[in-house]
Amino acid sequence: MCGIVGYIGKSPAKPILLEGLKRMEYRGYDSAGIAVIQDSNAKTCKKAGKLGELASVLQDKELRGSVGIGHTRWATHGVPNDVNAHPHTDCKNEIYVIHNGIIENFQSLKERLHKAGHTFVTETDTEVLVHLIEEHMKTKKALEVAVQGALREVVGTYGVAVVSTLDPEKIVAARLGSPLMLGIIGKGEFIVASDATAILPHTREVVYLEEREILTVTPKGYTIKTLGNKSVKRESNRIEWDTTQAEKNGYPHFMLKEIMEQPEVI
Ligand code: GLU
Repeated sequence: MCGIVGYIGKSPAKPILLEGLKRMEYRGYDSAGIAVIQDSNAKTCKKAGKLGELASVLQDKELRGSVGIGHTRWATHGVPNDVNAHPHTDCKNEIYVIHNGIIENFQSLKERLHKAGHTFVTETDTEVLVHLIEEHMKTKKALEVAVQGALREVVGTYGVAVVSTLDPEKIVAARLGSPLMLGIIGKGEFIVASDATAILPHTREVVYLEEREILTVTPKGYTIKTLGNKSVKRESNRIEWDTTQAEKNGYPHFMLKEIMEQPEVI
């Protein structure tokens, strides 16, 4: 499980996403990528290897867009290469998804979507999610409704962030078994991340997303709903830790953090 970051606001998203990914680098990863919405199109860049590889390709790309998502991947399904790196996109390149976790029923979903005419280009479990959202977008207009519909069909774990050229002023994020939080930078400016270290350089005001909740962020503000479509009212909290403490997730030492986060620890 690796890093998720999303930005929506007034500044160009690219440097904020890259900085966020850099701050989550300590978690380990094998590839990275970003998608930025710009002039009703999306620009993406994905690279296997270190963040420096991605940053150097991005250096030559003129990216002004102020809505975007970024990901560091730790491959579970599909080898670590440029194609399998996130974000993943649908058949029409209109929807972009980054995902931490594992979609356990991806094989059956993939077969169904394949029969419905979807073309898959990666070996990842994550790609089914974006095609599933594409299916739901055919009948639902709002991105968050399509994401909600898609996630109801998913078995597994996820921290996801989604952007779309069909609904360009928006980031939709959701979680189950993988952390996700919203940082409120200021009026009309927000950062979404799986790790507080990516948020703390911008703000200490955060809203923690709970299991099976979907967050919709636009320049006007944010709303939270459950997967079951109940509205959730949640105020922000103030993070009192500093970045070094956040990197240790509250543990006094990195080694202790590593030990305590082993899945088999008793
Ligand atoms: N299962 C996904 C993949 O292999 C996400 C891995 C991750 O959490 O980074 O692409």
